[in-house]
Amino acid sequence: MGNEKQVVIVGAGPGGLSAGIHLRKSGRDVLIIEKSHFPKKKFCGGLLTRPAMVELEYLGMETTDAELFRPIRSLIIHHKETSATIETSEPFFITDRERFDAALYQIYVQLGGRIIEDSRVRAVANDHCLLLVDGREIEFDILIGADGANSRVRKYLNPQEKSRSGFCLGKASMPDIPINPPDGLHINLNPLYRGYGWCFKVDGRCYSFGVGVENQGEKVRGAYEILCNTYGVPVQNSIGALLPFNHAAKIVAQRHIFLVGDAAGLVDPFLGEGIYQALHSGRLAAQTVIDGGSNKEYICALGDLRAIYRAGSTLQSILRYSSVRNMFYSLAIKHHGFLRFVCEEAVLKKSYHYMQVPQLYYKYRSKRSG
Ligand SMILES: Cc1cc2nc3c(=O)[nH]c(=O)nc-3n(C[C@H](O)[C@H](O)[C@H](O)COP(=O)(O)OP(=O)(O)OC[C@H]3O[C@@H](n4cnc5c(N)ncnc54)[C@H](O)[C@@H]3O)c2cc1C
Repeated sequence: MGNEKQVVIVGAGPGGLSAGIHLRKSGRDVLIIEKSHFPKKKFCGGLLTRPAMVELEYLGMETTDAELFRPIRSLIIHHKETSATIETSEPFFITDRERFDAALYQIYVQLGGRIIEDSRVRAVANDHCLLLVDGREIEFDILIGADGANSRVRKYLNPQEKSRSGFCLGKASMPDIPINPPDGLHINLNPLYRGYGWCFKVDGRCYSFGVGVENQGEKVRGAYEILCNTYGVPVQNSIGALLPFNHAAKIVAQRHIFLVGDAAGLVDPFLGEGIYQALHSGRLAAQTVIDGGSNKEYICALGDLRAIYRAGSTLQSILRYSSVRNMFYSLAIKHHGFLRFVCEEAVLKKSYHYMQVPQLYYKYRSKRSG
């Protein structure tokens, strides 16, 4: 233990905790530095796909806990005056992020993981030292940057990078929402903006409601007002959060410093899904450290996540014109049998990615005719 390299993780979200838990499971000493304290709030839809649930099982999470993971099979996709209802053959799961992150934190602490809470990292001073806002200095041999969309570690590895991000505006608690919440997972598409609105029940006390769009001044606000009008929700008292939207870090690992999750900008640019990406990249970073691997090996291991990212990014650029979006959304609603198939294969299971839709179409046709 005496000669063991000191591994420090910045941020105790799903990415940092996944890395921390996997490192602890292999007996490594690890320290997480977190700017807030548990239980902590995070504005997030909390929608989980099948690969995310698999990652949670690797972490030792009780995924059959119906209190924490509510299965949902009905997706209602709205576009203008039309909508398509899709019943998926296996469920998505919805979780409350506050309780979800707290459950991961419990696993980490029970495994003997160390954490300093209420301590914000101000900057990475050099390749071996972090500076905290309270003036303390923390030394490290290996650093994992899991500090989300506004990552300090990312800034250290990518000093020239201009900040460019998506933004979400919404609400996350029941008392704010004076409507009878509709059942199912509602997705609202609007060709006026890239991104979408969502509305669904998380549990008896929480409701997830908001829009995630490109961070272009009035666009976010405009999109949010349209969503509020649709559901009869007051615009006031909303909360906002950054979403790294189509914004992968150029350098995700260098020397002994690794970025995971939102810090690496791994969020699917089309869907806005990032929990799976955070859990998975956290595990890959931990495995690289455990194996004594290099940053190149980590970058290589990220291949599948980068393929999902690239496909989402390409789809977003295809949809950059509102006329194309309008046509795309209308077609999707019209052919809802195929839409269901794409949702299951490319979103829920991730056995295909968005750019493989032509292959999916052949598979769908042959399934229907066979
Ligand atoms: C409104 C919204 C809805 C979303 N809905 C979904 C969804 O339904 N499904 C899905 O899969 N994804 C969703 N996402 C994306 C998802 O929330 C993120 O991708 C995911 O949380 C990334 O995990 P992470 O661990 O990388 O970062 P985070 O969860 O952001 O965790 C980062 C941690 O680092 C800490 N931190 C930050 N800076 C510092 C610092 N300087 N010093 C110390 N600590 C620091 C933070 O306090 C935080 O605990 C949504 C995002 C938003 C904004």
